[in-house]
Amino acid sequence: MANFLDDSEQMWLDTVNRFMDNEITCEYIRKCDMNREYPYEAYEKIAKQGWLGLLFSEEEGGAGGNIFDYTLMAEALGKYGFDFAAAVLVPTFTAMNISKFGTQAQKDKYIKAFIDGKIRFSISISEPDAGSDASNTKTRARQDDNGDWIVSGQKLWCSGAASRNTVIAMLVRTDADNKHGGLSVLLIPNDTPGLVINKLPTLSRHSTGTTEIFLDNVRVPASALLGEVGQGWEIITDHLELERCSVAGAYVGNAQTAVSTAVRYAHERVQFGKQLWDFQVLKHMLADRQTEVDAARLLVYRAARMAADHLPCSREVSMAKLYGSETLKQCALTGMQVLGGYANLPEADMERYLRESIQSTIGGGTSQIQKTIIAKSMRLA
Ligand SMILES: Cc1cc2nc3c(=O)[nH]c(=O)nc-3n(C[C@H](O)[C@H](O)[C@H](O)COP(=O)(O)OP(=O)(O)OC[C@H]3O[C@@H](n4cnc5c(N)ncnc54)[C@H](O)[C@@H]3O)c2cc1C
Repeated sequence: MANFLDDSEQMWLDTVNRFMDNEITCEYIRKCDMNREYPYEAYEKIAKQGWLGLLFSEEEGGAGGNIFDYTLMAEALGKYGFDFAAAVLVPTFTAMNISKFGTQAQKDKYIKAFIDGKIRFSISISEPDAGSDASNTKTRARQDDNGDWIVSGQKLWCSGAASRNTVIAMLVRTDADNKHGGLSVLLIPNDTPGLVINKLPTLSRHSTGTTEIFLDNVRVPASALLGEVGQGWEIITDHLELERCSVAGAYVGNAQTAVSTAVRYAHERVQFGKQLWDFQVLKHMLADRQTEVDAARLLVYRAARMAADHLPCSREVSMAKLYGSETLKQCALTGMQVLGGYANLPEADMERYLRESIQSTIGGGTSQIQKTIIAKSMRLA
């Protein structure tokens, strides 16, 4: 987008876009979706580029990039569907919790291995009774006499938790009498004995997969605690800002592809002796969608710039997440209409974009919750 990126930012966005076109490809992402397969091969390619370490400082072995750089990467990673972007974004934004809140021992254990692609991270906040109201977390963790944590309960919708070598950053209740201050985060490897993880047959997220997790007196060492006891809410609030900013970038990337695909089809497809493009009603629909994509992109860039500059920006991040996800949904719906019957086939990709768009207004905080955050900043709540 002219004038909104400097030369090096534009070059970075172009680099990741080219990588997606040449090294990952839409066909590969479609195949992973159809087979409900985690994109291991692509994840490894991204690790080889060093991009998993984009947000880590150079001292930590990373690239020292900022949230704006990361959001641009998310935009390109999302171009062929949000699910693929999620396979890279969920581990990377979750890993940053180690950098921000981890002990030196946790950093030594996890950061290099993560940047090299040897381990992944998932974030597990949601539960059957704790969705939008995440502070209603009931999964209980108590320390035994040795200091080990004993964890029991059920987590839900933990994306990527069933993939190989994944460490789950899990929000748990450590104090029943303190709603927000009674929450903590534990780092639990997904091969911990007693952990039961089931990939769910969801409408979206076929490839990364989302899961339910059962814990019955699962034992993890004292060293699994991230930050302090009772710091869970602070960690999760900080986490969600980075998550929302980057996923909004990926929504915009995918929304742009949905519009561009529909525009291309409207030029190729002939009915009544004319290109579909010649029907003004379709042209206007697509002009509306492109305008929305541009507006969403500007909201995302504003939020990401503010976050990169360490300015308070929860309102701007919520606006970007809200408008980005709703725009993706509208663009995928319009794409379905313009592509007609063909849109129903996997090879048209539009039905996949639509499925992912439906999840985008739910995951990471629903559209209604984003509006509540925005309204609070307007002193209406
Ligand atoms: C595919 C997928 C992947 C996911 N991945 C993860 C993950 O990796 N980690 C994780 O922790 N979670 C994950 N989630 C969970 C996601 O964050 C929750 O689904 C989301 O926060 C909403 O919670 P809920 O589904 O329980 O809906 P509910 O909270 O029950 O909400 C149902 C409806 O009521 C509305 N509502 C609720 N409260 C209010 C309110 N106060 N004001 C107005 N409206 C309200 C909501 O907006 C929504 O429309 C994932 C979900 C899906 C579907």
